[in-house]
Amino acid sequence: MLYVSTRNEEEKATASQAILKGLAADGGLFVPEKIPTLDLSVEKLTSMTYQETAYEVMKLFLTDFTEEELKGCIQNAYDEKFDSKEIAPLKKAGDVCFLELFHGATIAFKDMALSILPHLMITAAKKNQIENEIVILTATSGDTGKAALAGFADVKGTKIIVFYPKDGVSPIQQKQMVTQKGDNTFVVGINGNFDQAQTGVKQMFSDKELGKAMETAGYQFSSANSINIGRLVPQIVYYVYAYAKMVQLGEIKNKEVINVVVPTGNFGNILAAFYAKNMGLPIGKLICASNENKVLYDFFTTGTYDRNREFVLTSSPSMDILISSNLERLIYRIAGNNSEKNQSLMKDLQENGSYEITAEMKEQLLDFYGNYASEEETASIIREVYREHNYIVDTHTGVAAAVYKKYQEETGDTAKTVIASTASPYKFTRSVMSAIDEKYNDKPDFALIDELAVLSGVKVPQAIEDIRTAPVLHKTICEIEEMQTTVKKFLNI
Ligand SMILES: *Cc1c(COP(=O)(O)O)cnc(C)c1O
Repeated sequence: MLYVSTRNEEEKATASQAILKGLAADGGLFVPEKIPTLDLSVEKLTSMTYQETAYEVMKLFLTDFTEEELKGCIQNAYDEKFDSKEIAPLKKAGDVCFLELFHGATIAFKDMALSILPHLMITAAKKNQIENEIVILTATSGDTGKAALAGFADVKGTKIIVFYPKDGVSPIQQKQMVTQKGDNTFVVGINGNFDQAQTGVKQMFSDKELGKAMETAGYQFSSANSINIGRLVPQIVYYVYAYAKMVQLGEIKNKEVINVVVPTGNFGNILAAFYAKNMGLPIGKLICASNENKVLYDFFTTGTYDRNREFVLTSSPSMDILISSNLERLIYRIAGNNSEKNQSLMKDLQENGSYEITAEMKEQLLDFYGNYASEEETASIIREVYREHNYIVDTHTGVAAAVYKKYQEETGDTAKTVIASTASPYKFTRSVMSAIDEKYNDKPDFALIDELAVLSGVKVPQAIEDIRTAPVLHKTICEIEEMQTTVKKFLNI
């Protein structure tokens, strides 16, 4: 299977090359030429572990990895770093199932892909006889940064540089990043928001002069952002796994159609669910949940994508995004896999901050339903789920639950539904506890963490224990215009 750039079909790559490059040379994203079909019976799937499911799904996309290589990557990724044997356990609360994707090292769903990406990348480098050191350049809205740092720390042959919006992440997210150990790790706070960080990183990727200077010094860039196909593919796995689990638990009959709700930012997680559906998994609606940065809701309702609006800082910072990069992969597809059409829309986005799809393209979006939740609606559903089901969800998952409620009220659809639960409530303790009861508003962070343990009956995760006393190791702050010079300084080029 080959991958092509969404901006130029002539630019083709094998899976391992696409993983190494991250972004295509023309600024496009790599997409598989064709989505493969999953032809395993559900009976077979229900008897498989997470790791076995991962192999069956990923081998269809990463066709130039040998069985031994791919199984090695999977074994190294999904091990004791996860505090659940199931890796992605399903929790029932009322009528819905929450798919808990936060049992990895940094307690957010980014671990699902970023615990395997370093292994895929190192394997890919070997396969392609790459001798340069790989420099992972990443912009983060809070969770990718830590998960990528944890994945790449002390991995031989790599360095990792993370840019985060200095005032746009939760206190716990920030503490997790700036206390990261490992000689090959660099963390920088920028005076700007996530979109600016992401744009700065994308520019460095396509800067030819910088590329030359890197090559001379024996470096090459790659990306740990969800634009990397090596992140997208591992995310398909848990939808397949969750479906099989629901059959096994008797929640649904074999072949019964389910809905999936995904709290969305960069459109990576929900795109993985879309790919799972296209592989043949019985998914009905893909429910795209946004917070007050509701650019995707507006897109699904009007057909116009318009980033010209105020950027809102919310209690779900990992979704505070106005340019959802992975949407480009969907646009390319609904344009009939037409890179020219896609490229002209992306040019509109770059030049005017907006684009409009045709009526014909819009017709192909019927698999999706988009809506958003305000800060009040999110807090209110966190309180409601806690009171009714004695289950505590984080703010991002809260956005998804609130949007699902709107969907049900609007459509009356009673199909069984999975909500992707993307972060542990411990990662956003302050917002979560304040949503449950105002009396928690004034307490210090770590006192709240202990209260959350009492309320939820869930042990404080190791990731939180680790930062209670950890020293701050990264203090660099820079302006947006200084991102490139900062990178050069780190690399001595
Ligand atoms: C990254 C993230 C999201 C958004 O996922 P995308 O793939 O960017 O759409 C949602 N919730 C949490 C907790 C995240 O870390």
